[in-house]
Amino acid sequence: MQALTTLGVAIGQLFYPHVCAGCGSDKLELDSSICWYCLDELPATGFADQHDNPAEKILWGRVPFNAVQSGFYLNRDSLMEQLIYQLKYKNRQEIGIQLGRLLGAQLKKSGRFEAEALVPVPLHPKKLRQRGFNQAATIAEGMAQELNLPVTQHVLVRKNVSNSQTRLGRLARWENSYANFGIEQAHRLRNKRVLLVDDVLTTGATLESCGQLLAGISGVTVSMATVCISSV
Ligand SMILES: [Zn+2]
Repeated sequence: MQALTTLGVAIGQLFYPHVCAGCGSDKLELDSSICWYCLDELPATGFADQHDNPAEKILWGRVPFNAVQSGFYLNRDSLMEQLIYQLKYKNRQEIGIQLGRLLGAQLKKSGRFEAEALVPVPLHPKKLRQRGFNQAATIAEGMAQELNLPVTQHVLVRKNVSNSQTRLGRLARWENSYANFGIEQAHRLRNKRVLLVDDVLTTGATLESCGQLLAGISGVTVSMATVCISSV
């Protein structure tokens, strides 16, 4: 099976040269999309080990949680911004898997993020059709490889809100964000320690809405993890 996978990767390279998504170098491992030099450049936050870290402070008093991790700083015109852009808009899902593995390794090392299920923030159905995949789910897949946990989808769901909402002002849309998510088949997560996963933490509005809904399921406790925290 390993040989077949390697053969598949090799054939893929005939069409898509295997180069680093950060710097374009061809000196990188076969199962990696980011070279060692670029991996070393990524600005890790070190939040995982810190109680009351800046990511947790953003969500204090807004949603009950055990712990929050954001793995890396997202600065303007940075390597990380380029990686997230390629993941979201250039269909480079392997980048999401690798960033998920990095995030998973940080959580494993800290020991503060005991969980039984990974729950990615769902993408709006319309965006999912356009993009073809949910980047948060791809990140969760990478984390699952590292943490040996199941990824549970379709319990936390995004509702297909009608277009009329796009006519609302920005503030009204934000206030309405709770209405955009819902819970189905709650029994699949009942009494579990859940780790909510997203790509970027900015205002915390999405994690707040989703975290509230998950924490409302009987016996559920919530931790949260994002690859990046936006500093812009
Ligand atoms: Zn590189």
